[in-house]
Amino acid sequence: MKSQRTRSQDRILDLLKILNRSISAQDIYLELRNRSENMGLATVYRSLEALKLEGVVQVRTLANGESLYSTAQEDRHHLTCLQCGESIPINECPVHELETQLHQAYQFKIFYHTLEFFGLCTQCQLAHHNGAAE
Ligand SMILES: [Zn+2]
Ligand SMILES: [Zn+2]
Repeated sequence: MKSQRTRSQDRILDLLKILNRSISAQDIYLELRNRSENMGLATVYRSLEALKLEGVVQVRTLANGESLYSTAQEDRHHLTCLQCGESIPINECPVHELETQLHQAYQFKIFYHTLEFFGLCTQCQLAHHNGAAE
């Protein structure tokens, strides 16, 4: 399936591949500007939207509501601490089999999935506990 991407979409996709991490639309805009590739913020958002619907870019929304974009190859999940915001990547993915089942049951074309766990990290648990004891 060959898609017709715009030049802006190609540039953003290239940038995400180079950076190899999750980044906000605002930061994509700044990164492009640092590379002397000026693109309007509205174009960045529009391009990200198109890439998202194509399934090559995935979005992760943080607890503070900020959306982070990355290339969709990685199947990475996180333990996110609600207090300090630390995001610990976990390597296991328990849902691959489920994805196949869902595809068969609903004929739904799944591009990717997200799976996140929220709570308190070890350090924050200690701080929380000490705080409560006082
Ligand atoms: Zn924490
Ligand atoms: Zn997974």
